[in-house]
Amino acid sequence: MARIVQKFGGTSVADIARLEKVSLKIKREIDAGHQVAVVVSAMAGVTNRLVGYARSLAGSAQSAEYDVIIAAGEQVTSGLLALALCQIGIPARSLLAWQIPIVTDDAHGSARIEQIDPQRLEECWLKGVVPVIAGFQGLTPQGRLTTLGRGGSDTTAVALAAALNADRCDIYTDVTGVYTADPRIVPKARKLKEITYEEMFELSAQGAKVLQTRSVETAMRHQVCVRVLSSFHDEPGTQIVPERMLSDTFHVSGITYKGDEARLTLKNVHNEAQVIADIFETLGDADVQIDMVVQDVSLNEGTDLTFTVLKGEIPRAMDALHNVKKVSCDGLILDPNVAKITVVGVGLQRRLGIASLMFKTLGSMGVPLQVISCSPIKVSVLVDESVAEEAVRLLHSAYGLDKEC
Ligand code: ADP
Ligand code: ASP
Ligand code: MG
Repeated sequence: MARIVQKFGGTSVADIARLEKVSLKIKREIDAGHQVAVVVSAMAGVTNRLVGYARSLAGSAQSAEYDVIIAAGEQVTSGLLALALCQIGIPARSLLAWQIPIVTDDAHGSARIEQIDPQRLEECWLKGVVPVIAGFQGLTPQGRLTTLGRGGSDTTAVALAAALNADRCDIYTDVTGVYTADPRIVPKARKLKEITYEEMFELSAQGAKVLQTRSVETAMRHQVCVRVLSSFHDEPGTQIVPERMLSDTFHVSGITYKGDEARLTLKNVHNEAQVIADIFETLGDADVQIDMVVQDVSLNEGTDLTFTVLKGEIPRAMDALHNVKKVSCDGLILDPNVAKITVVGVGLQRRLGIASLMFKTLGSMGVPLQVISCSPIKVSVLVDESVAEEAVRLLHSAYGLDKEC
């Protein structure tokens, strides 16, 4: 008998017919003698609608009421799925985050799980009842509802699997696994049998929304055995593995892009470490996250300082920069129409040619590379947003990742 957490995303529970299909998937594991805890997302489109309601009354994404509103979708799905299971003879009950509880910090809109008490779930199992948990939600120690950031049901599932010491956490979604690129953008992308925690973390952090980044971080920290698979098709998915077990032969495991960053350039800033430090300290104090940074080497006293921030943080970044007292520069350039393309693979450490192939391929498209950043397992470049999807397809071919048709 294994302990399994099964998580079903929005499209997998989009309507009553889908919920009935999902209940059969759960039944299969129960019939095989396993102990199952289920985590659900809101039905497809529901969270977006709730976000719309909150925004229409100027609900800030960092406020407690915003979380109360947008956490509601998961409550509906957990009740409905519990009913669907009961209807096919499987005793089940819904559980909301506060009923477990799943305790988080108070960062509304992107709260971090701090503690989960598995006792309520163990009690369900003792009574032969399947717990159906509303994902995405948490509770502060002061008793306020929180949410875990978009896509956060993945993190609920992995964190529960860790707390329950589960043998497996199965993430059911609308694709059959993790692909070498988003199959919606690259039709020739192929499914990976395995991917390391580290690579999956980078793919998610750089834009592949198939798993929320924090869920991968949690899986890595607690060595949770995670599989990504389809709730629509019965076929093997992708297993996330520690590096030593990696058997895939690709050097590059995936290509992704994200378009939620903007580029800022301060022209001709005084090239002095203290001045640059002041700029980043002020941005940090204003809670602006900086991603890529490039500073032109110059022989005279001035330098151009370029960096990227999240689009949603542009107003805060601009305000902060106007407040850096000692900085004098020849102007500030803002470009919100950029995208960061990233090539990920453990092989990058050993293969220098991988980065140059990326630059050569983008060069052949006539795409100017605005900022470049490298780490042992990834290379990222910032390009104009309008060419990003085409560039991902071209890079996918250039790295030999296209599936044979
Ligand atoms: P769910 O609602 O099940 O949580 P999501 O929409 O959050 O599903 O994530 C699944 C989607 O992730 C897929 O439909 C796919 O378009 C996208 N995706 C992005 N990158 C990848 C990738 N490398 N492999 C698979 N899917 C990806
Ligand atoms: N329903 C939430 C969202 O749409 C959480 C999730 O789907 O994981 O972001
Ligand atoms: Mg998701």
